[in-house]
Amino acid sequence: MNDAPTLIDVALLDPHPANPRIVEREDVIAAIAQQLQETGFDASHAILVRPVGGRHQIVSGHNRTTAARRVGLAQVPAWVREMDDDTAFMQLVLANAQGELSPLERGLHALAATERHGDIKGYAEAIGRPRPSVQTEVQAARVAKSCTCNFSELLDRTRHLSDIHAAPRHCWPALVARMVEGHWTVEETKAMVNVVSTAKPPRGYETLFPVDRLQELVARGEDANELIKYSIRTIDRARADMRDAQFDSDEYIARFDQWLAEHGPWDTKAMAAYAHDLIEEQRAARRAAEAKVAKLKRAVMLTEWQSMSGAERQALLAVRNAKAKLTRQDKESSIEWARWSWNPVTGCRHNCAYCYARDIAERFYPQKFEPSLVPDALAAPLNAAPPKEAVTDVGWKNIFTCSMADLFGNWVPSEWIEAVLAVVREAREWNFLMLTKFPQRLAEFEFPENVWLGATVDTQARVATTERAMANAKAAVKWVSVEPMLDPIAMDFSIFQWAVVGGASSSSQTPEWKPPRKWVVDLTARAMEAGCAVYHKTNLNLERLRDYPGFTTLEPSEPPVEFHHPAR
Ligand code: SF4
Repeated sequence: MNDAPTLIDVALLDPHPANPRIVEREDVIAAIAQQLQETGFDASHAILVRPVGGRHQIVSGHNRTTAARRVGLAQVPAWVREMDDDTAFMQLVLANAQGELSPLERGLHALAATERHGDIKGYAEAIGRPRPSVQTEVQAARVAKSCTCNFSELLDRTRHLSDIHAAPRHCWPALVARMVEGHWTVEETKAMVNVVSTAKPPRGYETLFPVDRLQELVARGEDANELIKYSIRTIDRARADMRDAQFDSDEYIARFDQWLAEHGPWDTKAMAAYAHDLIEEQRAARRAAEAKVAKLKRAVMLTEWQSMSGAERQALLAVRNAKAKLTRQDKESSIEWARWSWNPVTGCRHNCAYCYARDIAERFYPQKFEPSLVPDALAAPLNAAPPKEAVTDVGWKNIFTCSMADLFGNWVPSEWIEAVLAVVREAREWNFLMLTKFPQRLAEFEFPENVWLGATVDTQARVATTERAMANAKAAVKWVSVEPMLDPIAMDFSIFQWAVVGGASSSSQTPEWKPPRKWVVDLTARAMEAGCAVYHKTNLNLERLRDYPGFTTLEPSEPPVEFHHPAR
């Protein structure tokens, strides 16, 4: 070390960039300035500098240099020392012999040192101070640096700051701001840190109220309990109102939940406003759908159905018209095996030349023969019970279901079929006779026991497909309708419990037709051999059999005794 300090131009002096001093002490600088004016700059108070790039960087003596500049000194005495960055940095504290640094300033220095080397213990030993004190000051400095407030307001609050250090980091700025503004005591600070650190969302609402946001809220001094209470009440009420509206409730609740996920539950006013708008929208949509449904209850065609929303469709499928009635067949009707018909679905695209249903529909239905759902008809079987005649004649218990359609045509939406089956399941006292020319689809559905599931075989060409499909279909009664019988039919009747055979009445495109007796007789024999009950319709040229599954004609096993012949 040189024996005497060197005089350095004040203009060539720079402060150390890592000088931990937060604020210049005006009282200290004023006192030094007065002394300099009275006695000049005593060499015993020389500042400590290091040469950096042709200038000098102050290591110790920032206040003295400021005072010298203030009184107009051109030069100050300085100890000039070569030192590396680490040494100069440590000297900022070690050479601070007058103890001019506040605890927070010391903490900032210690924090910078430990951030470089990560060792509080080594740092404490290097500056000769107890490790716990250094630790406290580092914590305080860490908290202070996380804030945007004026450091000068924090100088004498090292204890407060180190206590705040125990709270979650994201809460520090709010706690520091409130601590300064509220002039909290150390005890008050500790108590608030405890409140923040132990804040928890209510059980079951952890996702909705993330704990870090909640703690931040408490740190800002807001009444979290009140907010949570109001928030949950608003959410529950909004969801309940959306459920009560009974229109696309799941979708509206999902939209509300999406808003919650994006915005959180914190701004209860905005949340309540959004919920209110959403419910209004839902109610308006419901009113519009109801108006539409009211118009379509008598028949909704496939094209209209396809353009409808899920909720509108649900509303139509749920129609239960208390005035809906089954149709009683005419006395002369050839369908005496089912005295009732029910047509919640109408229309067909098979385009059979002999179709009597198309002739009727074209004449009487506003939707003509276009595939349609008739919501108003859905409840008909629920509005009546079988008449007393059903006890002795099962035909009175039988409902020919969709006699004006092929319910299982591949154009029919599954929802229509399921809606029909839902009513069938409810109306257990009736038998529902179903008939299709597209039996391939039957395996898709489950049929309750009161369904007699049938397929039409009018020509031999249909036999193979029908046998395969009906073998796969599951129903308590399976039947085959050979009507109109246009070919001699050979098939496996063991799949079925019932075979109905008939000719054809005249239609707009076809004449009346009665199949040859031999065809009918052969079919009857094969079906009976296979254990299948046979029902002959009225439009045949022979003595009719009118058996049902489980109800076959009682025939004598041998001729009466009057026919006895000794040779037998
Ligand atoms: S399947 Fe029946 S309803 Fe359809 S066109 Fe043929 S006869 Fe008519």
